[in-house]
Amino acid sequence: EEEALIQSEKLSVVGQMAAGIAHEIRNPLTSLIGFSKFLKTRIDSYHDYFDIMLVELDRINSIVQEFMALAKPQANHFRHHDLIKIIQSVLTLLETQAIINNVQLKAEYRVETAMLLCEENQMKQVFVNVLKNAIESMPRGGTVSITLKSAGARNFAVSITDEGIGIPEEQLPLLGGPFFTTKESGTGLGLMVCYRIIQGHHGKIDISSSSGRGTTVTITLPKNG
Ligand code: ADP
Ligand code: MG
Repeated sequence: EEEALIQSEKLSVVGQMAAGIAHEIRNPLTSLIGFSKFLKTRIDSYHDYFDIMLVELDRINSIVQEFMALAKPQANHFRHHDLIKIIQSVLTLLETQAIINNVQLKAEYRVETAMLLCEENQMKQVFVNVLKNAIESMPRGGTVSITLKSAGARNFAVSITDEGIGIPEEQLPLLGGPFFTTKESGTGLGLMVCYRIIQGHHGKIDISSSSGRGTTVTITLPKNG
């Protein structure tokens, strides 16, 4: 318990710093991206080099954005939101990506409403990250099932199940650690951000997986946050 507490304190200080630095990097980065795009339209040669620059700048941009999401949820930004609406808006956001990847997103809500005290954008970020991983785990397509239900009197549980490649057992303890990725152009930051945000909302994340069969990520959140 104590060890876990110290770990989470560390994550909190480091996370806050990372988010602050990422924020400072964002402005200069935006101008580098803008001017690179502009120069590419004005210079007739070296387009291959500009393309490489833009791909790499885009990669820095994703890392910066993930680090910015590490900022601690601010208690004063917490509002009451319906988790169903949050999930629906994320599903809309990911619709195109799902279609391109031949993935069907199926949601089932076993409650009428699911009011939650939370920071809306951060909660959306969690579902974006988890659903993206689910989609990316099925290179030949398939179904992702999202189920929201009551878990006892005090909690909501959202489970996201895919039919993807799964996670080898020996890799389970590595999930959520910084930069752990098995993807060619992954950042290995998505799950760390999820753990951090859910921790900031007093919830928890459980991941169960079987290699070759698929993965279920279950997010438990206290009703009334
Ligand atoms: P990234 O997606 O950039 O690799 P994440 O932190 O989101 O970083 O995920 C870390 C790693 O966890 C992934 O590279 C992958 O190996 C594994 N993973 C996460 N979710 C799933 C999933 N639904 N199916 C299979 N592997 C997963
Ligand atoms: Mg990811």
